[in-house]
Amino acid sequence: MLEIKNLHVKLEDEDKEILRGVNLTVGEGEVHAIMGPNGSGKSTTSYVLSGRDGYEVTAGSATLDGEDLLDLDPEERAALGMFLAFQYPVEIPGVGNMTFLRTAVNSQRKARGQEELSAGEFLKEVRAIAKDLKIDPEMLKRPVNVGFSGGEKKRNEILQMAMLAPKMCVLDETDSGLDVDAMKLVSEGVNALRDGKRSFLVITHYQRLLDHIKPDVVHIMYNGKIIKSGGPELALEVENNGYGDLLAEAD
Ligand code: ADP
Ligand code: MG
Ligand code: MG
Repeated sequence: MLEIKNLHVKLEDEDKEILRGVNLTVGEGEVHAIMGPNGSGKSTTSYVLSGRDGYEVTAGSATLDGEDLLDLDPEERAALGMFLAFQYPVEIPGVGNMTFLRTAVNSQRKARGQEELSAGEFLKEVRAIAKDLKIDPEMLKRPVNVGFSGGEKKRNEILQMAMLAPKMCVLDETDSGLDVDAMKLVSEGVNALRDGKRSFLVITHYQRLLDHIKPDVVHIMYNGKIIKSGGPELALEVENNGYGDLLAEAD
């Protein structure tokens, strides 16, 4: 599924290396979490996977089912089945949520050589998924993210993820103050989409998120590298003891 090998990344316009040899393999149906102190390179990892500008890969590779991701533009990555949760957090006044979702779904289908969904087919699908995720249908009619609360934006993100039916979901829960309710939404959304085949990479500053999303593997990132990997007990260790001992071992 997702395979990152010896990934080195620097800022494009500065001589600053941020990722210094990241290795990570997420197998089919697995849920992996990346934790680590602020500034470790967690978000940079997700940005590079999404194809965001401003970063230069100087060595290493990232593949999805053997396909090189790093040479593709973001739409091509999506067509391969990659979903990055922060790809659509923007507010788009004047564009209805439903229209936006349908465009996203159909452009992905097109890129995959599938037939586009008709308005009727799309409506049926989006309503069913919204119901499963306990999303108020009213939210579908509003302009994308405009005036949405933090919780509604999270719900919308999960809805987008469900509609695009990705193989590999990368969620970066940045330090933007996820409250307990939003954390619950994210974890319920992820758990609802776990089906034994779909894989997840959940990047989080909050070990508590992992009380709800039970990861198969937990990685600790520090200074641009994964310094330790283990089972869910690793997240508990961090919760109880902080990062101190782990970082000392790595230095
Ligand atoms: P994390 O998500 O683990 O907190 P980041 O990936 O956001 O870490 O950042 C890793 C390091 O790279 C930090 O020192 C950060 O300041 C630096 N960095 C990342 N992106 C940029 C950028 N565009 N410009 C300058 N510094 C950056
Ligand atoms: Mg940070
Ligand atoms: Mg971050």
